[in-house]
Amino acid sequence: MASLINRFTRAKRVVVKIGSALLVDSSTGRLRHAWLSALSEDIAKMRARGQEVLIVSSGSIAMGRHVLGLKSGPLRLEESQAAAAVGQIQLAHAYQEILAVHDIRVAQILLTPGDTEERRRYLNARSTVSTLLALGALPVVNENDTVATSEIRYGDNDRLAARVAQMISADCLILLSDIDGLYTADPKANPDARFIREVTTLNADIFGMASKTKTDVGRGGMETKLKAAEIAMAAGCNMFITSGTVMRPLTSMENGANFTCFIAHDTPRSARKKWIAAGLTSSGRLTIDAGAEKALRSGKSLLPAGVMKVEGDFQRGDLVTVVNSAASELGRGLVAYSSEDAARIIGHKSGEIAEILGYSGRDEMIHRDELALNQREKIGS
Ligand code: GLU
Repeated sequence: MASLINRFTRAKRVVVKIGSALLVDSSTGRLRHAWLSALSEDIAKMRARGQEVLIVSSGSIAMGRHVLGLKSGPLRLEESQAAAAVGQIQLAHAYQEILAVHDIRVAQILLTPGDTEERRRYLNARSTVSTLLALGALPVVNENDTVATSEIRYGDNDRLAARVAQMISADCLILLSDIDGLYTADPKANPDARFIREVTTLNADIFGMASKTKTDVGRGGMETKLKAAEIAMAAGCNMFITSGTVMRPLTSMENGANFTCFIAHDTPRSARKKWIAAGLTSSGRLTIDAGAEKALRSGKSLLPAGVMKVEGDFQRGDLVTVVNSAASELGRGLVAYSSEDAARIIGHKSGEIAEILGYSGRDEMIHRDELALNQREKIGS
């Protein structure tokens, strides 16, 4: 038990997902101010012990529909999009005001699936979030409900939160729910339902338990939470489900409240490198000089100055292979420039990029986080 909670308390980058029913009083449509204020104490505590925190928050539709006087019951798509447009401002304002008490600056990020799934936009969203975290801001993320179409949307914030965790290489994701974790059956209907403390593999048995368990929070039920667990675990991120119905739920969890922990087997970094190494086809090739090869070996990024030749036709965010002058493959990575732009800046210092291209791009041709090197023994073989 102690070691399980360490996966939260010792995590470096934590995504906390908050559902609509926790945040918004369904009868009045008002924000549950006292609850969010209490949660902000938990967040401030996490930040004080050095953890980076990002919030994925629902609630825009639930808040907006009351402001617009929309009837209760299911909304038409355009009504919920209109409600989100109104509610999101209120939501952002509430976070800003409540977290300011702890001197925490809030940044709003609204995402559509293309932002986490298309590699070009993914790289941008990833580095914007990393920059915000490095500057000490607290990103609050929601789906961009006003423009999302019903066919192309995350639909539930459980999965959005898992995609965000994957995108930013978080090592812990917490879903605050109206239920304290996963049971073998619906605990409200079945007194024999057993609580599952720890999940190491997601198999058909586990998915079977979810279909029997109901939860009322937002759009996501237990099944969407398991889909989120699947994404998180594959990305090297541990995931917790715990009850958000108490005040200060994160502190409660540390103090022994129930939770289910889904254990990831890799770190986010190694999961990401495996994905880069194995999951994609290469669309180009960069030949680098001996100095750059040495730099990569010592864990540095690939700079344009060390690249001698660009081959292939690729876009920013595509996978390319990196070879040395003897044409031995050194590794693969996601490139920060298109083949056209890459060809213009190779051999140049990063400080010259803006002048050559007319816009200021990244300093690196391939950032070290986006690069998977082959094992040394394989090189030249
Ligand atoms: N994005 C939606 C909102 O903010 C909520 C989605 C969900 O509940 O999972 O209202």
